[in-house]
Amino acid sequence: MTAPLRATDPIVVKVELGARAYDIAIGRGQLAALGARIAALRPGCKAAVVTDENVARHHLAAAEASLQAAGIGHAPVVVPAGEGSKSFAMLEQVCDDLLAAKIERGDLVVALGGGVVGDLAGFAAAIVRRGVDYVQVPTTLLAQVDSSVGGKTAINSRHGKNLIGAFYQPILVVADTALLDTLSAREFRAGYAEVAKYGLLGDAAFFSWLERNWKDVFAGGPAREHAIAVSCRAKAAIVARDERETGDRMLLNLGHTFGHAFEAAAGFSDRLLHGEAVSLGMALAFEFSARRGLIAAAEAERAIAHLAAVGLPTHINAVSGTWPDLDSMMDLISQDKKVRRGRLTLILVRGIGRAFVARDVEAGEVRAFMAEKLAAR
Ligand code: NAD
Repeated sequence: MTAPLRATDPIVVKVELGARAYDIAIGRGQLAALGARIAALRPGCKAAVVTDENVARHHLAAAEASLQAAGIGHAPVVVPAGEGSKSFAMLEQVCDDLLAAKIERGDLVVALGGGVVGDLAGFAAAIVRRGVDYVQVPTTLLAQVDSSVGGKTAINSRHGKNLIGAFYQPILVVADTALLDTLSAREFRAGYAEVAKYGLLGDAAFFSWLERNWKDVFAGGPAREHAIAVSCRAKAAIVARDERETGDRMLLNLGHTFGHAFEAAAGFSDRLLHGEAVSLGMALAFEFSARRGLIAAAEAERAIAHLAAVGLPTHINAVSGTWPDLDSMMDLISQDKKVRRGRLTLILVRGIGRAFVARDVEAGEVRAFMAEKLAAR
């Protein structure tokens, strides 16, 4: 049953980006304070609330009531749910709708939704009238711990995912953990892969905490808030060090090179959700690191065992259907991270919480590893 909303004090995490710094307010019931927070930041503004059909059904009325109570004029812009909305056609539609709603410089866009809405609305905000402010109100676990923080916005092209976009930071993120109560169990679990990722890449103590407390994180309550806050703190710290992903921010791609290849092979469909692909990719990155002698096999197994315990895929056999042949899979892996003179850049691990950027991985070594995985089907 969905727990009643309580407007408790939020946990506030700051993203330290100088003149573009902003707060992430995390807590159950925080949507009720959205309007007041916006009014404090941009007195007298009006807002367009971009959302998708599913989120609109569950949470648009509450978002509008919060804006209304703070005296902020608002207009909804509702797009179809799903990855297909990260398209040029939908971007055009959203930009036109923002202009029709008379959003001017000084007004703002509220992105109420998961990563799809956040990426689409954030990019529209970056280009409408050469840039209007926007606020992220993430409604999936993945969006609360990852996509709403850090300012990457994008749509997809026929040449690939997220290829057209901008680095454009929001002025505020409001992560109301109660909104996750309406999310499907599968979507929540997929988002949890990104939570586990922060432990696996840089925080062994957090990973141990997750091993002990993951059931409480799934159940909701203070453990969920804590896990989201720790994840946001980790992401905020990395983004503050490397906003444009020239160094440390690459660590956030742990599991993504292998994962993206499978996600693309599955056609970015319900067959394998993004977070599920990241889980599979992280399991492969740990296994590959153990193969190279970088991490003890038992430690790699411990990382993989936790992902499996929560019900995330850690082996390609856990995903139904067939996969393309080895050459096609290697093409997908190489597209994600450019091959330079037969070498790939991968995020590997020297231990739980000790990820690093390996720029010298022989493509042949990855090919042999993938051949073995695909043969084991
Ligand atoms: P999503 O936005 O498609 O949401 C998943 C599904 O859940 C959708 O059907 C949506 O309508 C529904 N939904 C969302 N919130 C809900 C709620 N509270 N209750 C009920 N249903 C709800 O998917 P996602 O996993 O949040 O995001 C994936 C996208 O994020 C991808 O496009 C990916 O490229 C992008 N992404 C971006 C970044 C970044 O840094 N910008 C990082 C990671 C992922």
